[in-house]
Amino acid sequence: MLKIENLHASIEEKAILKGLNIEVKAGEVHAIMGPNGAGKSTLANIIAGKEDYEVTDGTIELEGEGISELAPEERAHNGVFLSFQYPVEIPGVSVTNFIKTAINETRKAKGLEDMPAKDMLKMIREKSELLEIDRKFLSRSLNEGFSGGEKKRNEIFQMAMLEPKLAILDETDSGLDIDALRIVANGVNKLKSKDNAVIVITHYQRLLDYIVPDFVHVLHDGKIVKSGDASLALELEAKGYDWIKQELV
Ligand code: ADP
Ligand code: MG
Ligand code: MG
Repeated sequence: MLKIENLHASIEEKAILKGLNIEVKAGEVHAIMGPNGAGKSTLANIIAGKEDYEVTDGTIELEGEGISELAPEERAHNGVFLSFQYPVEIPGVSVTNFIKTAINETRKAKGLEDMPAKDMLKMIREKSELLEIDRKFLSRSLNEGFSGGEKKRNEIFQMAMLEPKLAILDETDSGLDIDALRIVANGVNKLKSKDNAVIVITHYQRLLDYIVPDFVHVLHDGKIVKSGDASLALELEAKGYDWIKQELV
């Protein structure tokens, strides 16, 4: 699904990623953890194609095709989803109308007609039921006055509707409450399939109490310095990151 080799990237001349390698196969959930400033969000943004970063070396392949030259929209159309990629607040545009537009734009980019309204409604109903999203929520104005949990609910709903091949959830370092963590975890657990892959980026182990990842990676100083199974997250919770830094010396 995703193969990154020797990725070097910088922002404003400052090297952030320094030879990062990762391979994510279809059907897998990977967690990327690591101390603040390690480059986790940078990695997510670069995979999604955000333009502030300069890739100075290495390759990023999605299903065997290099994507480094593609614009963010093209990557999205190819099935890459990054949380918070979409506008934060659009007064007057409902959660439902926003996602309808996003889906039809993706179809248009592939030369397809708009999804018939009947099919769209059916999909909205199925996905919202699966994720236990209230009908009233779907008619709310996008992100206007949303709580942290509601923002997460919207994000997971977008993910469910867009059916990405590769979803990247960057949970950011700001505290998510338990409600929001459960929404994210529940969404990932329900939406994972043998055909898609998920990368969950988190500073905190507690999200991984709800999502059991197949692999856990530690990103430190622009590289993945340790990988393991879900037990690595527990070890990090108990011991912090310093022991890993010491192993590297
Ligand atoms: P993480 O998500 O692991 O906390 P980030 O990827 O956000 O780390 O940041 C990695 C490094 O890149 C940090 O040293 C941060 O200060 C720097 N950085 C990130 N974004 C910018 C930016 N827009 N301009 C300058 N430096 C940045
Ligand atoms: Mg940070
Ligand atoms: Mg971050």
